[in-house]
Amino acid sequence: MSKKRVNGLSRKTSLATALATPAKSARNICVYCGSGLGLNPAYRAAARTLGETLAKSGIGLVYGGGSLGLMGEVARATLDSGGYVTGIIPGFLTEKEKMMRDVDEVIVTIDMHERKRLMFERSDAFVALPGGVGTLEELVEQLTWVQLGRHTKPVVVANIDNFWTPFLNLLTHMKSDTFIRAGLDVRFSVVDDAAKIIPAVVSAWNNHAAPADAAVLAKF
Ligand code: AMP
Repeated sequence: MSKKRVNGLSRKTSLATALATPAKSARNICVYCGSGLGLNPAYRAAARTLGETLAKSGIGLVYGGGSLGLMGEVARATLDSGGYVTGIIPGFLTEKEKMMRDVDEVIVTIDMHERKRLMFERSDAFVALPGGVGTLEELVEQLTWVQLGRHTKPVVVANIDNFWTPFLNLLTHMKSDTFIRAGLDVRFSVVDDAAKIIPAVVSAWNNHAAPADAAVLAKF
């Protein structure tokens, strides 16, 4: 694919280089999801629906850069429908997660911290499809940043076939036990159908204007 860019980032210039080369789409959504497929075929179908909807909406995909599992499915579906895909992957995972090379832009980072920071910087919203502990960690990190007022970018949990219901129940339990206190609510949306993800994000964009990146950066 001729429009592809590959950035092998050095420790010295990585962040500056990446921030100076914004992705093509005006808006980008970061999708966290499993590097495996899971057992329920509905997860794979949801990943494909999300990829197709992103492309049709003119919204770019930012994701972890692998070609395996649901991560690979959402990226391939976005590309198949003519969308723009940015993969962000740490060097040590390029083999293990079979880095997808045929995307619009690949950023190979020094480590996980840089990957997560760039995924945050490049994205205007975050979506969690079903996944494992990696997906869970990334989702919870965004929820804590929202709770602590570090950003107002929308976070959407795609509760496909009730995959996330045990996690949502845990949050309810934390709240009833006052570990999530009134006034420190965790703001996010839950949808039960992949076709509802983009409408939920757009609705949140319209209701909560995301601050400029510079303003967000200054808070860290
Ligand atoms: P998983 O949901 O466990 O299949 O992981 C999905 C993605 O999350 C993979 O690209 C992993 O490399 C990534 N991942 C795994 N552990 C972490 C972590 N602690 N923080 C951020 N991402 C992670």
